[in-house]
Amino acid sequence: MKELILEMEEYASEHNVPIIEKESITFIMKIIKANNIKNILEIGSAIGYSSILMASVAPDVTVTTIERDETRYMECLKNVKKCNFEQKITVVFQDALEVNLSNVSYDMIFIDAAKGQYTKFFEKFKYFLKDGGIIISDNLKFHGHVGKSSEIESKNLRGLVTKLEDYIVFLKENKEFETNFYDVGDGISVSVKKNEKK
Ligand code: SAH
Ligand code: MG
Repeated sequence: MKELILEMEEYASEHNVPIIEKESITFIMKIIKANNIKNILEIGSAIGYSSILMASVAPDVTVTTIERDETRYMECLKNVKKCNFEQKITVVFQDALEVNLSNVSYDMIFIDAAKGQYTKFFEKFKYFLKDGGIIISDNLKFHGHVGKSSEIESKNLRGLVTKLEDYIVFLKENKEFETNFYDVGDGISVSVKKNEKK
């Protein structure tokens, strides 16, 4: 397991795969443990690094993870097999915005895919979260660019960063969720779904 994790870190750096920072995944694993989270939906598998670590928190934690890039999806499947997590991790090869989820509800959703689509992911997948469930989003600082979009010259990058800035406002103003922001790794938010009034 430890060896596989190191292998994945090496693969990611060689192939420019943006896997989560150590500090951030450690933080998320603590949240999973502390809240007794059992089933997780992840948007953006890449090569399975974060899914495998999240699934390793306890024997009964399961993860469904979605990836639209075929090479990464194949690599993810390979890694899930290597650690014998086929029963714990389901990898879905599709664009998350096109996925049809059946009638499941998750304890936690981890958003870590295209940075320009975070609000869309949140709005789509919040219906699959239990009351009291948690939505975690990664890369809210986007390598220090967030909050400084007006200074960015590249139009593409500026567009992405502006969308992340809008997402942060969206989270702050969202009345269904209580969101806290953490200066961990590349910036993480934890949004807890409020219980519906009885
Ligand atoms: N969670 C991973 C890293 C994910 S990197 C880890 O920390 O180990 C982001 C991934 O999201 C990329 O592999 C990219 O192909 C994928 N992605 C981006 N937009 C997507 C979408 N709309 N649907 C599915 N996957 C998407
Ligand atoms: Mg990330």
